Amino acid sequence: MSDHRPVLSRAAHDRAALRRQDGDWLAQPGRRAASLPVTGDYLVPVLHTPDGLRLAWRAARDDEPWVFLGNHGGAAYGMVRAARDSDSYADVEHWLGLREVGAVLSEAEAGLLVEAVALAQWHDRSPFCAQCGQPSEAVEAGWQRRCPDGHQHFPRTDPAVIMLVHDGADRCVLGRQAVWPVGRFSILAGFVEAGESAEAAVAREVAEEVGLVVTDIRYAGSQPWPFPQSLMLGFTALAAGDLTLRVDQDEIAEAHWVSREEITHGAFASALPPSLSIAHRIITDWLSGHLP
Ligand SMILES: [Zn+2]
Repeated sequence: MSDHRPVLSRAAHDRAALRRQDGDWLAQPGRRAASLPVTGDYLVPVLHTPDGLRLAWRAARDDEPWVFLGNHGGAAYGMVRAARDSDSYADVEHWLGLREVGAVLSEAEAGLLVEAVALAQWHDRSPFCAQCGQPSEAVEAGWQRRCPDGHQHFPRTDPAVIMLVHDGADRCVLGRQAVWPVGRFSILAGFVEAGESAEAAVAREVAEEVGLVVTDIRYAGSQPWPFPQSLMLGFTALAAGDLTLRVDQDEIAEAHWVSREEITHGAFASALPPSLSIAHRIITDWLSGHLP
């Protein structure tokens, strides 16, 4: 049976969340097994091996600021911040990002990497307490930030919806965002607003972007997308009533009803989003009949 999880949702490790507050366990000499260095622009060291790309983990040191990622195979893995030009990393041959390697790593390494990048992004964007403005510091193995007044802040994730709108037969809507180059298309997407359900966000975004009314909104899986801190919630939705596309030119440059044949062999065959994206997974599942 093929794996229908989106590629960045393939995590295989145990996050061991209860251990984040277990200072005694974390502090045992030799507890830390391996560290993944992440740079300020979210690149990590990568090795080319006969079996493909691997993350170049480093032996962890007990005295370095360390974000606990979880356990795998009986070992504790963590994330450290790195400067590429530091002498410590003079031996690194390749620094690559999640977008470049996320789809080709093993499920265990992909899961650890997406978690490491999400946490690095959050720490970088949260140096001050959002409540009182004082500098905050990382505590609890990097899973909380706290200011001198004790205000607690936790890693943030912003929900976004991404939806394949179909006609109940053989066509779906592909659009090109105004900021994308000509020839690139994907399914529609947008952020969930404050106080809004995911399903309501699907209906609202479709109406705003292409002027369609949708019904039969069905969940189709999710994928973390830490660029910088999104969680993509996938859906399918059935267009109802008038199927005329009325494109909001501010957000969408063009949108089209496209048949399966046009995506697999026709004008849109080279327009599919990259395999890293959940959009790719949803479209290919729809093409193969796994989705309505
Ligand atoms: Zn505070």
